[in-house]
Amino acid sequence: MSPRRFRGGIHPPDHKEKTRGGSSARIGVPERIVLPMVQHLGTPCVPAVEAGDVVERGQVVGRAEAMVSAPIHSPVAGTVIAVTETLTATGARVPAVEIAPEAEQDWDRFVPLEDAEVVHTVRAAGIVGLGGAAFPSAVKLTPPQDMPVSTVILNGCECEPYLTCDHRTMLERPGRVVAGGRIIAEAVGASRTVIGIEANKFDAVDTMRSAAGGSAEVCVLPAHYPQGAEKQLIRSVLGIEVPHGKLPAATGALVHNVSTAAAIADAVEDRRPLMERVMTVTGHVARPGNYLVPIGTLVSDVLAAAGGTVGEVARVIVGGPMTGMPLAGLDVPVVKATGGIVVFAQGEVAPAVLGDQPCIRCARCVAACPMWLEPYVIGIHANRRDWDATERYHAIDCIECGCCSYVCPTSRPLVQLIRRAKHMLMERGSKL
Ligand code: SF4
Ligand code: SF4
Repeated sequence: MSPRRFRGGIHPPDHKEKTRGGSSARIGVPERIVLPMVQHLGTPCVPAVEAGDVVERGQVVGRAEAMVSAPIHSPVAGTVIAVTETLTATGARVPAVEIAPEAEQDWDRFVPLEDAEVVHTVRAAGIVGLGGAAFPSAVKLTPPQDMPVSTVILNGCECEPYLTCDHRTMLERPGRVVAGGRIIAEAVGASRTVIGIEANKFDAVDTMRSAAGGSAEVCVLPAHYPQGAEKQLIRSVLGIEVPHGKLPAATGALVHNVSTAAAIADAVEDRRPLMERVMTVTGHVARPGNYLVPIGTLVSDVLAAAGGTVGEVARVIVGGPMTGMPLAGLDVPVVKATGGIVVFAQGEVAPAVLGDQPCIRCARCVAACPMWLEPYVIGIHANRRDWDATERYHAIDCIECGCCSYVCPTSRPLVQLIRRAKHMLMERGSKL
């Protein structure tokens, strides 16, 4: 299968060499676990425990009471210290359950999920898109009846620089990724499964080909950011554009991340809820690598498990440098969608831009935009708070990939401006 190139995009240095070679290692038992009740797109969870309760590993501590939601499970055996609030990486303050883990944990023990059909099991397991989207996976397994799914695409691109957790998952748990793909395809009635992997991971290509046998195709894609964005991946694998204003499901394709597929297999085959995940810890840390981390561990504890930071730290980002969040402090918990923590030193981050930078109309942002937008125009209108104009220029279609900001020679804060416009348009009722 030969992939088609999507329009635009960029080639940032991938910086994956420090972490792609080593096996994932489980971190020790953290001193406390803080589980935000908002770890997914959709309705927040409701705390299901009280201070003083003894909880088991795998026990539900956050109940999902809406269709678009995902329950939250304790990743440790321990005692609930408080039902409280916590700051998250986004800067929001949200309800949370705080747990003191027992010093010794049996990582093989957990409260198993009840026996149920696939969609119910995935919902009960609390699985969300682990590639960063955090959309509840069970909802994606029930596509609208008028949009039948013919092809499941497993996203193993991991185009975001520095991150290698999906790469390691494909190398270390290929059978689980393939099993997850089969479960998803059966659940939605798809006849074809394709695993998309960027051409900078040939060991993963070989491993997945041999694990898949004839049950799934492996499509090698050019290493080109944002290859792993849903619409760009569909375009590259199937050669179909997702029409403006339509869901990706309108093309007959359903995209799930490879780590999400492995988590779905864990839930269906082992009755295991989502309690922990592999994440990349890299940049200026003593032991860069991939770590298996209980969800709710504080960023400061994850960094300590990686040997601590090295040198003068300028910025810590949760996620990758293109789409991640810079942290104001390290006492925030990692959540289900946290794929990595990257530590930057002085000199590696652009100085903060003060005030409005001039646009020199070079159109580099237009050439780089994979969504065919005109970022500089949207940015100018967003600056003027002319939300009607940002709507006319389709700001709502922006996938916040950061390509426009990356190429802008005057460092205009384009993504921030466009994100603001999207937020205003959604408040007015526009749909993504
Ligand atoms: S406008 Fe949005 S989609 Fe286009 S390059 Fe910028 S961030 Fe990416
Ligand atoms: S890249 Fe920057 S300077 Fe060039 S047109 Fe876009 S916003 Fe203006």
